[in-house]
Parts: sequence; structure tokens; C-alpha cells
Amino acid sequence: MVVLHYTAMTNAEDALRRLCDDCPPEGLGPVSCHYLISETGRIWQMVRERDRAWHAGVGAWGGREDVNSHSIGIELANTGMHPFPEPQMAALEALLPGILARWSIAPARVIGHSDMAPGRKIDPGPRFDWRRLARQGLSVWPGAAREGDFHADLARFGYPVEAVAEADLLEAFRARFRPHGRGAVSAEDRRIARDLAERFPARAGAHSPTA
Ligand SMILES: [Zn+2]
Repeated sequence: MVVLHYTAMTNAEDALRRLCDDCPPEGLGPVSCHYLISETGRIWQMVRERDRAWHAGVGAWGGREDVNSHSIGIELANTGMHPFPEPQMAALEALLPGILARWSIAPARVIGHSDMAPGRKIDPGPRFDWRRLARQGLSVWPGAAREGDFHADLARFGYPVEAVAEADLLEAFRARFRPHGRGAVSAEDRRIARDLAERFPARAGAHSPTA
């Protein structure tokens, strides 16, 4: 899979230093990623694609744990408070097709850090334009099906529902697919989740009860 992040730092150069730091500041562990993309669209490759980088941490997607051993990590230089600039998005869209082709990664396996670690991670956050990626076949975007079982459908789509509180799950799902959604799980949430589960099930064997 591919996991997208933001750096949560003020600029790409600070992030570059942090990602190259063999002796990180006290309290922070070593981190690494395969690619870093600056606000202006410059791409640094930091780890070979066939090697394991330390970007994902604890979490799971589609029942797959140890995400670091099964993913390419891409960091987008962004504080988390700003839109992702056009040159940065364009660079990402130029980088992804080759990665997906080389490793036979389906668009549904291009996910956010928050998708595999709800409640623990919030990047790339509600400002990231997933719909734009999906239009180019580089990720997925839901339509609306009939209402289903929200929890079961999110599990089938890939979310690690077993290890995560319901509120965190809803927050991660909405950050990606319904940034303006508020309050308890709604009919719209259930329709979107059902569509994702039906069209892009990460857990092929998982049964999703019909509504
Ligand atoms: Zn991250």
C-alpha cells in the first residue's frame, strides 16, 4: 500500500533534517519515509522503494499489521494547517502512477496515515484533496449506496475497527471522506461507507451484512 502523511513542520528543509537525523531529539524516535515532497513540488527520495522505512508505526489496514513492511511512505511538507499547494499535488500525482505500477498497488490501497491509525494519527487531514487523486485513479472516492452497517462496512473497506474507539473511527473516516460531517453517524455516513465496502473491499473474505 501507499501511506500519505504530512510532516507537521514549518517547511520541507526542517522535515528533511529530521528525516536524516540519526540521533533524534530526546523523546523522539528515528523516523524515515521513502519520499518527501516540498510545497514547491520538489521530490526527495530518501529510502529505496524495496526497503522498509519507519513512517507508519502501530496500526493496520485491511487486516494487515506491520504496515511499514508493506507500504511506501510519502511525506508532504505541510504544517497541517494549510492547503496543499498545486505544485505539491502535481508532484505527488506524477510520482504515484510509477509506484502503483511497480508494486501492483490498487488505488484503494493508497491511504492516509489516519486511515491505518485512527485516534493516534490525523495526517494528511481534512485539507488533503482525496477526490482529486481519485479522479486520476490514484485513490478512491465514494458514491452513495443504500444505508448499511457503518461499523461492518468500514471494517470491510479496511479500517482497523477492532483496535479503535468508535469516535476515533468516525473522525478518521470523516477527515477523509466527509470533512464537514458533524455529530453522530448519519445516513450519509452509512451510505458512503457501504459504497466503499462494496466497491473497494480490502478484506476480501469479510462478510458485510446487508441493510
Ligand atoms: Zn504520518
